[in-house]
Formats: sequence, C-alpha cells, structure tokens
Amino acid sequence: MSEESYLARLNPEQRAAVEAVDGPLLVLAGAGTGKTRVLTTRFAHILHSGRAQPWQVLAVTFTNKAAREMRERVAAIIGQPAEGLWLGTFHALCARMLRRHAEAAGLTSSFTILDTDDQMRLLKQVMEARQIDVKRWPPQVLMATIQRWKDRGLTPARVSPTDEAEVANPRSIAFYAAYQQRLLDINAADFGCLLLHVVEIFRARPDILEQYHRQFRYILVDEYQDTNQVQYQWLRLLAQARKNICCVGDDDQSIYSWRGAEVENILRFEQDFPGATIVRLESNYRSTAPILATASHLITHNEGRLGKTLRPGRNDSSGEKVQVVSLWDSEEEARMVGERIEQAQREKISLNEMAVLVRAGFQTRSFEDRLIVLGVPYRVVGGLRFYERAEIRDAMAYLRLLHQPADDLAFERIVNTPRRGLGDSTIAAMHLAAREQGIPMMAAARELVETLKPRPRSALRELMAGFDRWREALETHGHVRTAEIVLEESGYIAMLKADKSPEAPGRLDNLKELTRAMGEFETLAGFLDHTALVMENNEEAGAERVSLMTLHGAKGLEFDLVFLPGWEEGVFPNQRSLDETGNKGLEEERRLAYVGITRGRKRVIISHAANRRIYGNWTSAVPSRFLDELPEAEISREGAQRQRVADSVFNGPMAARRPPRIIEADGWAVAPRPAATSTYKRGGRVFHQKFGYGTVTGVEDNKLDVSFDKAGQKRVLDSFLEPG
Ligand code: ATP
Ligand code: MG
Repeated sequence: MSEESYLARLNPEQRAAVEAVDGPLLVLAGAGTGKTRVLTTRFAHILHSGRAQPWQVLAVTFTNKAAREMRERVAAIIGQPAEGLWLGTFHALCARMLRRHAEAAGLTSSFTILDTDDQMRLLKQVMEARQIDVKRWPPQVLMATIQRWKDRGLTPARVSPTDEAEVANPRSIAFYAAYQQRLLDINAADFGCLLLHVVEIFRARPDILEQYHRQFRYILVDEYQDTNQVQYQWLRLLAQARKNICCVGDDDQSIYSWRGAEVENILRFEQDFPGATIVRLESNYRSTAPILATASHLITHNEGRLGKTLRPGRNDSSGEKVQVVSLWDSEEEARMVGERIEQAQREKISLNEMAVLVRAGFQTRSFEDRLIVLGVPYRVVGGLRFYERAEIRDAMAYLRLLHQPADDLAFERIVNTPRRGLGDSTIAAMHLAAREQGIPMMAAARELVETLKPRPRSALRELMAGFDRWREALETHGHVRTAEIVLEESGYIAMLKADKSPEAPGRLDNLKELTRAMGEFETLAGFLDHTALVMENNEEAGAERVSLMTLHGAKGLEFDLVFLPGWEEGVFPNQRSLDETGNKGLEEERRLAYVGITRGRKRVIISHAANRRIYGNWTSAVPSRFLDELPEAEISREGAQRQRVADSVFNGPMAARRPPRIIEADGWAVAPRPAATSTYKRGGRVFHQKFGYGTVTGVEDNKLDVSFDKAGQKRVLDSFLEPG
C-alpha cells in the first residue's frame, strides 16, 4: 500500500499521531477512536518510511490474538509478510528476551515456564521443608503475595521488611527468597518471573540493556491503561535511551487493577517523558450514536476520570437504540438471546459478528444450552465450553456413577479426586481385579479396600459408604439436592474452598450453575442424557460462530451485535465490589460495563432476569444499578422491570405466562414440565427440548429417530419430546 493510501484512511488527529514518529507520544482516547489502528499504521509507517527494519520495532499487545491481528494488518499495509517482528504480549516478549540472556538470571536458555499447578506444588514443598503447617498458612495465600510483589517489580531483596504483607505474615520474604532459589535450582521460571528477571537483568547489566537500546528504535504499546508496575519499569528502561515510545490507552477501560494494573501509569507518562506529545482522539468510528451516548453517559457516574470527549465519527444519524430487556429468569433470557441471534441471521449479520459477553464464566452455560437447541454454532473464547470444564466433568463423573455404578471411566476420574491417598498402583490393582472377575471397578474397589493402608482404606471406605447414602438421598431428596450433598460430602467443595488460586471461586460458581441446570430436568437420568447429547454436539471447524466470552476477554474487540446479559446486582456489578468499602471496585465494574457496551457496532442488547434459581430455590434478583444509569433517550426498555418474585408470580405482568411453581414439602421448588404424549408416529412433527423442531423418521420403543430442522438427524428419547 502506498503511503498516501494508508495515511488517507486516518483522520487528521490520527494522522498526526502516526506521523509524529520521533519522541514520546501518548494517545489518550475513548473506545473505538482508532487507537489500535493508529498503532498499527504507525508500525507500518515506520517500516515503510525506512526508519527501521521490522526487528527494530518493539510492539506490545494485551493478548496473543491482538498480536496476530496486528501482524496481519501490518503485513497488509507493507505488502509483505512481516518477519522477525518483536510483536507480542509482555510475557511473550520477556520470555524471548530471557531465553537470550538466561545465564544473567542464573538459568539456562532451555528453562521451563511453570504453570499454576506446578508453581503451587513447588511453593508448598518449600514451605513444608521449613516445617510450615500449610493448613494454617495455605501456600495459595503466600503465592498471591509473591505475585503481587512480582507485579510491583520487587525481588526478595527489594521487598521492604515493613511491607504490609510481611508484617501480616512474617517470613513471607524469606519464603519468597527460598521459592525463587528453588526455581533456579530446577531451571524454571513462573509467569511473574519472566518480567522480573528481565527487568533485573537490565538493571544489573547495562551492556545487555544497551544492546536493546541499539536494536529497538521504536516502541509501541497498546492498552496502556492496563500495565502494571513491573511492565512499566520494563518499558521505561527500554525507552530511556531513544525515548521513541508511543503508548495508546483509555483510562475508562482500565479493568485489570485486580492484577496489579495501575492507571496512574498514564499520568506518570508525562513526568517520565517530559515534553511528551499528547494526542486526543475524539471521533468514534465503531459504534452508532446511541451506543456511544449510552456508554458515555454510564461512565460519567465514575469519579476521578481524566475526562474525554467522544462523538460519533460516522455521520449516519440513524442507529438503533440500545435495547434493555427484562426477563423472567435465565432460561427466558437465553431464549431471548437465541431468538435475536436468529433474527440477526435473517438480517444477514454473520454469526462471527455476534457476541455474548458475560461477567463471569459460569454464565455461558444457559446460552450454550440454548444455542445447541437451536443448532447455532458458537465458540467460547478464552475458555472451555461449560460441560468441558474440569470441575464440571468431575461433578458429572460423580453423578454418572451414582446413576450407573458400572461407569468405570467415571470411577477412575473421581476415585482419587479430591485426593484420598490412593496411589497409581492401588488403582492399577482395582483395574486388574475388575478385569479378572468381570466386575465394575467400583465393585472391585469394595473388595480391595480391606487390603489398603490405613489412610487410603478409611478414605475409600468413606467414599463407598457415601455412594450408598447418596443413592438413598436420590430417592428422598431428589437429584438437585443430592448433587449438592454429593459435592459437599465427597470433599469436592472443600477442596475448591481450600484452593486460594484465582480460578477457584469461578469453579465453585460453575458447580452452582451445574445444580441450577439440573433443576431444569425432572430426573438425574434426564439430565445425564441431556449432557451426553450436548457433549456429543461437536461443531465443525471453520464455520461461522457466535462468540461467548467474558467482558475482560473482549477488550479491544468489536462486533456488530453484542449481548450483555445478567445485569443484576451481585452478578454485575459483582458481589465482591458491593461488599467492599469505598467505590473503587464498583467503579472498575462500571468501566467493565463501558468496555462491554463499546464493543458493539450496530446493536447492543442488555438484559437482566428478575429471578434466579439458586440451589433449586427461586430468588428474586435486583436489576443492576447500571441499568438506572443509562440515558433514557438512547435506550428502549422491554418487559416490565420486576423487583420481587412475589409480585411477579402473583400479580406481575408475567404471572400468566408460567404455570405456578410446585413447592415440594422440603422447600425445593420444581418447575413442572408439559407431559409428553405417549406415542409418536413416523412423519409426525415433534419439539425437542434441546434440538428444537423436527420430523420423526423412525420409532423404536421409547427411542425415536428424528430429523431436526436445525440440529440434523438425531436419536432421542421420547420423554424429551413434545408434539410439535
Ligand atoms: P478500543 O478502545 O476498543 O481498543 P480503539 O481505539 O483501539 O478501540 P480501533 O479498534 O482501532 O479503536 O478502531 C475502531 C474501529 O474504527 C475499527 O473498526 C477501525 O478499523 C475503525 N476506524 C478507526 N479509525 C478510522 C477512520 N479514520 N476511519 C474509518 N474507520 C476507522
Ligand atoms: Mg484498541
């Protein structure tokens, strides 16, 4: 592409930001104003104008996906594949540097990068070797402290003895030092080490830093508002010689303070790089006017903003209002989302251009279930599909075993999860015994239990007794309550509660969501059949798909149609931010809402459910305060806002839409399902709870072959069907 043509794609302010190549530059601008486009074009312009070779530019993105996109766009502008680029996330770039200079950090270049599990195991060993009771001082707590120190660029030697964490837990620094030493001994680094080591090398070895000063003529940084201290130190060290650093960011989109990001880095930029040019971009090219006005209005409820103007850059005065939809419950919410996705498809909007953005991972479940019914392909970006998540698979294994004691795969999965002290050899012995006698492993385990050492013996006995009890519970308490009992009594919940890693609370939420999903079925068998079908539903690769992801994962992305479900107090804003004193957490949640709304190009649909099923019980959900902070002129509200369950069940506008719930004697509510009529005939039309409408092509006992309109040919149980 010629210089004229790529520069012509920019407005005057953007163009100025691209052409001011030398010296420090900060682009501070709202969502969708073309910050990333400026950065990419600047990259290409630097190469195109011969100021630097591809490997002489250092470009930092927030995700690997963003790095890939930038690589492609740069290549498109310069007209050739961009080779040898230093383009990636902070971690990727630092890993590459550390491999080059590993010896300077006491490692060799083949060092291993540890995952969270290994990391935790190592720290635990370090603590145990020093006679620390890890029950009283869980390694997860210490690990969190260590990570915070690393985020701040503090090696053990740099942590002050009066540091808050050290005062709270004396010897933390000593353990940190021992942990770092262990890592060196095994030639490994954890994620936080990557940056820390490189910064330390730069400080200790001016010769190495100077190599990079010579190499990197230009530095480019996207999503600058979310850099933490150590990342900032790294950037400053690299930039100090030439000062050709360009950072782009938006203080209103700072959403990673929980990972140590500091929006103050934006303010410090001017101090650290005196004479820096500050460019403000004000035209938003992404979203329609109502979407923009809605997001801008919402964010004015935050205090302490740097303040920015944002106006529509496209001069189409049209643009639909932002829709705010109130629904009865999450099933209805998922149904609404499904319908509107289909409607958008009819309007020729590609599925790739649609996204459902949730606050927390567990929320994808209801939408996944619904999209499967409709046969709409989807992907869960940055995470696993709900039923593929480890804790869900574990819980399902318990339930499968309860239903079907001969399910050896399920047995193997859970026999030592949580840990019961059973070694590989014990499990191998169960295998052998089961094979020799032709019995299920569970039965073999019952026979073997007496031969085990005391600890595993009592643990396994307890598990077997558990299954006997739980099978009875199934009769008396029903499947939802039983599932809760199983998860509690097996020690599974306790295991997750003891786990202080950042993922653990999300796992617990997923399990709660699982029991909620079970409540949608009458029996355990029905639910298990459903999940088996869901799991089997593998979508073909390469097809267009709706994206399901968290709001955090959506940063920097854009879609024609964006769904923002679950806007309820305690969900979004999340409970933690509400429990906190002060409004820091709440303001971060609001910025997250701003990020969510500004992902939409043409249509944004926000929704909330008035009721949530929690442990089989219905509770009312209070609509998110953010819904009251939207500008009435720009939005359209649908469905009455409902505050209290009692109101809505007995008097509310939705009262007639649903049959009243039957409250069982023990207080667990069940939703009655329409009874299936007994016989279906070939050629008859049916409706399946998960696959939608279809035509019966064959009947065999209670199993039917059905050609579904959307989901294709399937074999299903008649109890899942209704006349269609
Ligand atoms: P975010 O804050 O969400 O990361 P951003 O500021 O990085 O947003 P971009 O993603 O670079 O914004 O741009 C938003 C959209 O506007 C993109 O589709 C981009 O191609 C388009 N765009 C940017 N600048 C212009 C322009 N001058 N003319 C037309 N379209 C533009
Ligand atoms: Mg961007």
